[in-house]
Amino acid sequence: MVQRDSIYWNPILETMPREKLKELQIKKFKRIFEWAYNNSPFYRKLYKEAGIEPGDIKSYEDIKKVPKIDKAMLRDVQTREPFPYGDILAVPLKDIVVFRQTSGTTGTPVYQADTWQDWEWWSECWAYILYAQGYRDTDRFFLPFGYNIFVAFWAAHYAAEKIGCEVIPGGVLDTEARILKMQELKCTAFAATPTYVLGMADTARKMGIDPRSIGIKKITCAGEPGASIPTTKQRMEEAWGAKVYDHIGATEIGAWSYMCTEQKGLHVNEAFFLVEIEDTETGEIIEEPMKQGKMIVTALDRIGKPCIRFDSKDVIRWADYDCPCGRTFRMIDGGVIGRADDITKVKGVLLAPTAIEEVVRSFKELSDEYEVVVSKKGDIDDILLKIEILPEHEGKKEEILSRLKDQLRVKTNLGYRIEVHPYGSLPRYDVKAKRFKDLRKH
Ligand SMILES: [Zn+2]
Repeated sequence: MVQRDSIYWNPILETMPREKLKELQIKKFKRIFEWAYNNSPFYRKLYKEAGIEPGDIKSYEDIKKVPKIDKAMLRDVQTREPFPYGDILAVPLKDIVVFRQTSGTTGTPVYQADTWQDWEWWSECWAYILYAQGYRDTDRFFLPFGYNIFVAFWAAHYAAEKIGCEVIPGGVLDTEARILKMQELKCTAFAATPTYVLGMADTARKMGIDPRSIGIKKITCAGEPGASIPTTKQRMEEAWGAKVYDHIGATEIGAWSYMCTEQKGLHVNEAFFLVEIEDTETGEIIEEPMKQGKMIVTALDRIGKPCIRFDSKDVIRWADYDCPCGRTFRMIDGGVIGRADDITKVKGVLLAPTAIEEVVRSFKELSDEYEVVVSKKGDIDDILLKIEILPEHEGKKEEILSRLKDQLRVKTNLGYRIEVHPYGSLPRYDVKAKRFKDLRKH
């Protein structure tokens, strides 16, 4: 359908010199700021209280003066008119064409309103992702989910059609039927959460089907950090004999970043998003690479319910390398390292749950499932790690545990209590897994 000989979905924007890209971002930021100021009562009040108006944004530095918003504010605004979104809307309610909502894993769901123009923008953002991961009009793309009111897979679906792929929605089927359908139709690609990518491979093997025999060439991950954790990515790639690519997006933000076929870091789609990284201690914006902070993000073109300087609480860092693919979009290293709320001090040491995942998934003797529970025993923090040893390695239990404890200590500077659970007994998840529990917060 779409005939292109470039490796880029949009060669002009994806390879734009950085100075020009920055100019474009400032121009677009001014435009969305002015749009929100003039059309959204919520934003106008916020900006008036801060004493800032459209004419005040002249340079990149001025953007830092614009007040941030966060999820609590997005929830609060929903209690106001117009129902159910509140006065953050910057268009008349009649212009909204789709309702979506966040998954609500961290509290009350946030409702998302998009206009038809926003919806075109969503699928365009996803087209950058899929095209960069090698999706072309020859691909047969399976989506093993009921998309329901969650946005990501809808956007993936329309973007894949836009590229010219043949799209198969696998919604109402169960996991076994999905595997059979992918096999029957000789699908070449699918998209899923890392948890489900591994879960489907496990189910296929139990059905007597080697997932590698199905012919899947690429898998796009969403919803969890796994595809940016090298050991988890490797597990998925080995299970399916396919390339696994990460993408990151959020309902209230948009699909803002993607891994390309080089599989280095993730490119931030800087033509559509302005990403800033804020030092959580000093509040300064971090420009230097490999220093982590939380992401403040602006969707530069989303008009129905604008997202301007949203404090995502996602912890990220700029990469200290470029990508050989030639895209000039800046890269982040290691995907989302954690949530600012999840990266917590345990026994006085900062612990990111992804660091535990990286170690556990490097052990071929362990199953894909694990769980971490942090609690207090008296005054002392206790970390319990629950794992499953694969049946064929049970004889080596003591040796495995000793190696696991050592490697966890090296990676995280902490000691763990480890419980071995019978293979198949830890909870299995269909979409997003809840593997990290901090009971000290309750
Ligand atoms: Zn690249």
